[in-house]
Amino acid sequence: MENKSIWKSGIRKRALKKLNENITTDILIIGGGISGLTTAYFLRKSKYKITLIDKDICGYGISANTTGKLTFVQDLIYSKLTKNFNEEIALKYLNSCKDAIKIVKTIISRNKIECNLENVCSYVFTNDINKIENFKKEEEFYNKNNIKYKVVNKLPNNLSIKYGLKVNYGSVFHPVKYLMGIRKMLLESKIDIYENTRAIKLTKKDDYYEVITENGTILAKKVIVCTHYPFFIIPGILPLKSSIEKSYVVSGITPINKKFVAISNENPVYSIRYHTDDDKTYIIYAGSSHYIANHFDAEKRYKELINDYKNYIGKDIKYYFLNHDVMTPDYLPYIGSVYKNDNSLLIATGFNKWGMTNGTIAGKILSDIVLDKDNKYIELFSLHRKITKDKVKNLIVYNYLNAKTYILTKIKKEYTFYHENIEIKTVEGKKIGIYTDKKNTKHMVYITCPHLKCNLIFNSIDKTWDCPCHGSRFDIDGNILFGPSVYDIKVNKDANY
Ligand SMILES: Cc1cc2nc3c(=O)[nH]c(=O)nc-3n(C[C@H](O)[C@H](O)[C@H](O)COP(=O)(O)OP(=O)(O)OC[C@H]3O[C@@H](n4cnc5c(N)ncnc54)[C@H](O)[C@@H]3O)c2cc1C
Repeated sequence: MENKSIWKSGIRKRALKKLNENITTDILIIGGGISGLTTAYFLRKSKYKITLIDKDICGYGISANTTGKLTFVQDLIYSKLTKNFNEEIALKYLNSCKDAIKIVKTIISRNKIECNLENVCSYVFTNDINKIENFKKEEEFYNKNNIKYKVVNKLPNNLSIKYGLKVNYGSVFHPVKYLMGIRKMLLESKIDIYENTRAIKLTKKDDYYEVITENGTILAKKVIVCTHYPFFIIPGILPLKSSIEKSYVVSGITPINKKFVAISNENPVYSIRYHTDDDKTYIIYAGSSHYIANHFDAEKRYKELINDYKNYIGKDIKYYFLNHDVMTPDYLPYIGSVYKNDNSLLIATGFNKWGMTNGTIAGKILSDIVLDKDNKYIELFSLHRKITKDKVKNLIVYNYLNAKTYILTKIKKEYTFYHENIEIKTVEGKKIGIYTDKKNTKHMVYITCPHLKCNLIFNSIDKTWDCPCHGSRFDIDGNILFGPSVYDIKVNKDANY
């Protein structure tokens, strides 16, 4: 059983050049996940000088820990959007998902990217009879909009369910192979890519931006931030109107690829897909999601998922890993301009765990904005869209949880989530966490998150320090793994604490 993403297994990780000088560019894309690489793809033939930087290797961020389902059957999203906005908005979102899937398929076929793309059926289901009423509302939307579906009480792998909808539409792929394919073809274009190059600070100057990285400064006329969670605060929008959900994924070998994807309408949500590579078929089972602010039962949730998998799906787990995504209170992502009436700084985030489609359409929208082209989805995903009823309710929940977590991390001395190998000390007013590994080596870090100063929690499964407020994650030696923090939390190794 390996604590590693299935998608990172067997892929050779070789970094491109690192930025070691000051440069200027027309358009700077920060972040080479699905949204950043797709944006670069659509800009590759433009008249502009395009530069892309990634703090790690492109394709190795959140997109490498996904389950890689490409479908518009995203829980009961259309009835939720109809209730929260109206049917027109729900239909627009549906079309954006379909367009995104077409884009992925076109990129794959035009560039001959081998990434295990397969067509499958999509299911949404429940095991709770009280939830069937919600499914009826989704069916209403499907009926009105000519989406063909069947009502079912069993999944193709014979898991019985109380109620489900089956749609003959959807695909799965290997997300890292796909992104590596785009990266390879971008290298053959005139785009400059720098890896292991972390953006630390972004400042708006007169008519350009200054982006400071570890070893060089970039001056750019426009900046597109695709770092999953932007590393700067956007007043009134981020972090205020967002939250982070953590989910766990387990995978093992199974005899037959049943060619379907399924998502439950439960709390927590569960999802299933299959993947065949090198004559081996894997089942990928994800779930046990929770707001990161509810971190106390994270370890329990991980174990629950593993037990569920062993009881209902298979005995042998080959990979287990976790991932998190940015959630928005009205279920739509934030894609577009940070400032009203000014397209010089753009972002894409808040994919609500559907970034394979939302990140792809983000690439098209952001590139169209830069190229001054019309795009029918600009308003739908605008950061400046109007507030809705559900949004207010969810906003209160997010911000209450975040504030509570922030305060708790400050006033509590010990956490249930810390395990016996963790010591917490305060040295010269700074909190230090010390993890002792199996070889008795001590690993020390500052445990205050550099982003917005929440205290970090030790994640004993992945052996990482995680921020329970905004999702930054660090390894046991303090290196930043995931933002929004742009700083490490290393303590001087020679210090004798
Ligand atoms: C458990 C789970 C399962 C999921 N399954 C699905 C699914 O089946 N289908 C689906 O549609 N979606 C799914 N998602 C959602 C999807 O994985 C994400 O929404 C998507 O991958 C996010 O892509 P991104 O480009 O925004 O981020 P990333 O892939 O993280 O890309 C951001 C890049 O920016 C870089 N970066 C970050 N900070 C900096 C910095 N300061 N300077 C330079 N570079 C930086 C990172 O290294 C990274 O490469 C799932 C999510 C979870 C949690």
